[in-house]
Amino acid sequence: MALPAIMFVAFFIITFVLFTSHLRHMKAQRELPTRDAFLDTQGGSGACPGCGVSERAEHGLDDKDDRCRIVACAQCSKLLYQYQREHEVN
Ligand SMILES: [Zn+2]
Repeated sequence: MALPAIMFVAFFIITFVLFTSHLRHMKAQRELPTRDAFLDTQGGSGACPGCGVSERAEHGLDDKDDRCRIVACAQCSKLLYQYQREHEVN
């Protein structure tokens, strides 16, 4: 009898945790430094402060074509900086 109620509550708790985790991740991406500010703090090398690798991967903030680009380390996935793409990509 209590099982449906427990499943109902568990569903909302899990949904809440996943949703707040997603919001925290989006907020962290929006608060990333700009490319110039990041390069200034890294002495111009641009290497990942976590693992030292220079290889990067980028994606859009809201979707893959978003002009606001988020750049992360290709090795350890640490978020590095953001920049605005100049032109739309078709
Ligand atoms: Zn790294």
